[in-house]
Amino acid sequence: MAYVSGLRCRECGREYPAEPLNVCDFCFGPLEVVYDYEAIRRVASRERIQRGPLTMWRYEDLLPVDAERAINLHTGFTPLVKATNLGRLLGLNELYIKNDAVNPSYSFKDRVVSIAATKAREFGFDTLACASTGNLAGSVAAHAAKAGMKSFIFIPHDLEKGKVLGAAIYGATVVAVKGSYDDVNRLCSELADTYHWAFVNINLRPYYAEGSKTLGYEVVEQLGWRVPDHCIVPAASGSLFTKVWKGINEFVSLGLVQATGTTHMHATQAEGCSPIVTAYQAGWTHVRPVRPKTIAKSLAIGNPADGFYALKTIQATSGSAVSVPEEEVVEGIKLLAEYEGIFGETAGGVVVSALRRMAQQGAIGKDEVTVAFITGNGLKTQEAVESVVQPITVEPTVASFQAAVNGR
Ligand SMILES: *Cc1c(COP(=O)(O)O)cnc(C)c1O
Ligand SMILES: [Zn+2]
Repeated sequence: MAYVSGLRCRECGREYPAEPLNVCDFCFGPLEVVYDYEAIRRVASRERIQRGPLTMWRYEDLLPVDAERAINLHTGFTPLVKATNLGRLLGLNELYIKNDAVNPSYSFKDRVVSIAATKAREFGFDTLACASTGNLAGSVAAHAAKAGMKSFIFIPHDLEKGKVLGAAIYGATVVAVKGSYDDVNRLCSELADTYHWAFVNINLRPYYAEGSKTLGYEVVEQLGWRVPDHCIVPAASGSLFTKVWKGINEFVSLGLVQATGTTHMHATQAEGCSPIVTAYQAGWTHVRPVRPKTIAKSLAIGNPADGFYALKTIQATSGSAVSVPEEEVVEGIKLLAEYEGIFGETAGGVVVSALRRMAQQGAIGKDEVTVAFITGNGLKTQEAVESVVQPITVEPTVASFQAAVNGR
């Protein structure tokens, strides 16, 4: 809290106090947290960060809440794995996987919810809520449990079983809405006016979004205080994508790391819901909403709240936006699992397939440091891969086993 000076409209620049607000009263632009970077610069150092806990809270000085008051499930500082096998296959010598599938509720959403939930408690809310494409559900429910708060989780009715169970188990009230995520989100925006609840990604969105910066910080630190040349990030609302870049950028501007060149930011989506990619390819400055129909349900946002800023980030970093055909999503999941021993969810399949396409098209130099972000766990999207992985069943005899494996 110490280094937050307030909120500011990203469009007209009007300033607001650090309260549970998310849109500008004048122009309806989204609000963003403003920091006192001069004060941060005086305290921030690599040594101070390295003395911190092995969680996202080591970056406390750059976050809008005090670590001391955190609802702390020990999120973050997840492995950055050098992907030597996959790198060899794709002709990339410096390929890394940021494995955020191993967070407490098995997705990167724990980063954003850690901040939003802590902030919600600070503001005096007793109920956490969210509109979720799946992973946010589990994370909000888990943090509410830890904080002793109530939670209402709104999801589209056709989510994967693992995501529904993975929220309900924490004691949350899970509400399946007959509609798409965009319908769920609209409903929640209306409910937020009626109920005094902390909707983490609606009325607390400015704080929530800041949590994703920690992915950028971690990658820089784990690369040995180097900035990557390429980041390949899945995009739904586009918030994560813009905040990974913001995190890297803050480290550079605070002098914590030397930028040797620009980090190119690449947003990835599945073809069945790719409004950001479509806008990028068409050269539009704004995203046109689509009706999602994709296996990558965690990315199924047809009207991305941060689409405009994602496009600006692509432009600012000479990045790109890449979509992959639906059938390549499962290929990507299998590729990562079989080459690197990491089981990502469908969003991860999107990222790995997009990475493969980019490598094949020569969009990534063979010695360029490239980080692929795996943001959710494959055990939550088993439906996607069920049909492509079959165990063999045998009688408990050597003969039966040998007959079954014969020819494999
Ligand atoms: C929510 C989610 C994303 C994208 O988040 P946005 O910030 O809305 O773009 C990416 N991957 C997974 C697994 C997610 O659950
Ligand atoms: Zn404004």
